[in-house]
Amino acid sequence: MINDPVIELKNVRFRYDEELVLDGIDLVVPEGSFVGIVGPNGSGKSTLLKLVLGLLKPVEGEIFLFGQRQALFKRQERIGFVSQKANSFNSGFPATVFEVVASGLTRKIGLFRFLKQKDKLEVYQAIRQVGLEKYANRKIGELSGGQQQRVFIARAIVAKPDVLILDEPTVGVDAKNVRSFYRLLTSLRKEMGITLLMVSHDIEALLNEATHVAYLNKQLNFFGDTAEYKNVRMAKHFSYAGYHSV
Ligand code: ADP
Repeated sequence: MINDPVIELKNVRFRYDEELVLDGIDLVVPEGSFVGIVGPNGSGKSTLLKLVLGLLKPVEGEIFLFGQRQALFKRQERIGFVSQKANSFNSGFPATVFEVVASGLTRKIGLFRFLKQKDKLEVYQAIRQVGLEKYANRKIGELSGGQQQRVFIARAIVAKPDVLILDEPTVGVDAKNVRSFYRLLTSLRKEMGITLLMVSHDIEALLNEATHVAYLNKQLNFFGDTAEYKNVRMAKHFSYAGYHSV
């Protein structure tokens, strides 16, 4: 079900130094949607996520989270984040899958507190949701890149966020596992009602699962549902081949 916006950007503008990186961005992420952000390298995709996460501040415009101005929003636990660098542990890294996923509860229960039985059950449930139940006691470094990234999804969802923000999480994931990774995201969206906002380079896999597409190139060149994006891309393909070069 698609309802109210959980994230809304109104006329957002951002620059690091002199160079304008994002200009006039109006974007609405509806509740229950899977919004894929695509666009060329350097088009401002990661910057947009950092603005939504509150790591950067717009120089103009406003961001609303769950209908509230970002500056007043205090419930960060409602927003989970998975970065592209997560899946790079070497085989000697000492933490187990269980321990890494449990660390996602830190914000909720405090660092170095003992996990209660209920917390442990939540950790196992998150591990099951990403299909890694057989690996709970394995060292994370012994897993493949795709499996490691599933661990980070589990870590992000264990605290039951309403929104999951992902920055190119399939970097380092085998091509053959990319499809199933996207399918996992859709199952989280449908079963847990998690809204997804994701920067992606895997355009075809993304178009199979996303409900909406945002095409960014400093400005928001396109925002709409996925079927509409496919039509526009098809039309542009014949008139202007550069448009879909992602
Ligand atoms: P994308 O994610 O689409 O590849 P980015 O948001 O990472 O794009 O970057 C957008 C532009 O901002 C690029 O020109 C990049 O070089 C520049 N940029 C990114 N991060 C910084 C930074 N910390 N300081 C200065 N410029 C940056």
